[in-house]
Amino acid sequence: MDFTAKSNTTFIKQKIDDLEKMTDQDNPYTRIVFSDKFYEARSWLKNEYHKLGLLVSTDDAGNLIGLLKSKIDTHKVVIIGSHIDTVPSGGRYDGIAGVVAALCVVKHIKENNINLPFNLAVYDYLGEELNDWSISCIGTRGMIGALNEEILSRSNSSGNILKDEINKIGGNSKSLTKPFSIIKNIVACLELHIEQGKVLEQKKIDIGVVRSIPSISRFSVVVNGQAGHSGTILMDQRADALVASSEIITFVNNLALRLSKESNQHFVSTIGKINVHPNAAAIIPGKVEMTIDLRASSKSSREQYIKELEKQIDTMNQNGPCKIRMKNIAFAPYVEMDKKLVKLFKESSDHYGFSNIIMDSGAGHDTAHLSRVAPASMIFVPCKDGLSHCPEEYAEICDISKGTSVLFKMLENLAKLNQN
Ligand SMILES: [Zn+2]
Repeated sequence: MDFTAKSNTTFIKQKIDDLEKMTDQDNPYTRIVFSDKFYEARSWLKNEYHKLGLLVSTDDAGNLIGLLKSKIDTHKVVIIGSHIDTVPSGGRYDGIAGVVAALCVVKHIKENNINLPFNLAVYDYLGEELNDWSISCIGTRGMIGALNEEILSRSNSSGNILKDEINKIGGNSKSLTKPFSIIKNIVACLELHIEQGKVLEQKKIDIGVVRSIPSISRFSVVVNGQAGHSGTILMDQRADALVASSEIITFVNNLALRLSKESNQHFVSTIGKINVHPNAAAIIPGKVEMTIDLRASSKSSREQYIKELEKQIDTMNQNGPCKIRMKNIAFAPYVEMDKKLVKLFKESSDHYGFSNIIMDSGAGHDTAHLSRVAPASMIFVPCKDGLSHCPEEYAEICDISKGTSVLFKMLENLAKLNQN
């Protein structure tokens, strides 16, 4: 079945159009996890699950599940999932394309009365995007038991505690420190996602079969200086936290640039979040908080980066006027996708004659967490100019439909392998 047929492309377009309306109106496209718009989108998705005749539930990690039970009695399950939350001023396809593709696959299975030898579960993983609690992939981290008490007790800038939010949406924060029992029954975790890079578009390739996902680390950096009058405190008397911070920002950029060249593997680092206190034109900045984001496919380059950055901060603490503290606040290790599933995804794409390549992901995904405990793999479809996490994010419906075809063929191939 080729999903580029009109009935499917219309379905996919309609669902994406539906979801794009659920945004903060002043700030499209914004649907932050636990926000009112996010709850609205979750209600919409529940309704979509119901319309397809799926059993609807929310698991302890707050993932919204639509289950199509196999006609044979089995505990085996294949998961197709992604996410419907966005970053602030994000896009209409990141995560959304994967959830909509899963709905389209289920629609086809139901319409054609196809029997699968396993249960099929569509997942909207809770809070994939990095949020105000400085944690991404809440739902999948929860599933594998990787949310500890420190993370669950974090407050966001409005004083809301993460575990309270998880419980409010239907989860159970008490059972998130050990892997869920469903994991032992998972045959495969599959995800379709837009590439968020330029490789597929530039090479005119339909499908990217993902082989690996880089490690992701986040560090909070707090620079304490001394606030003071911008007119009276002389230049050599200052402890300007923003000046010290700018030195760190430049250092991080240069260090990452060098290590990316040396390692010849995916290596990027960014400081994209910074709070300056008191942030007033006539006051010397007294305190700065920043978050460093680091993604690396090479363990040794990552270790080298941390070593050099810590040394730089030590030197600044000894010789400069500010006191700087750095703390690791999140880490997801480098993972490889299941080799058999990668091969099967490639074969599923070849089946339709879609051009494809095996590639490494630059971004983190829910599938990375699940791949630590269960067979998992994902595919990318092209997106325009590689733009993502911005309103200009765009993917052709036809390209998403091709990816949807591959997802469906993957299920057929897995069904053959799992026939009793
Ligand atoms: Zn995403």
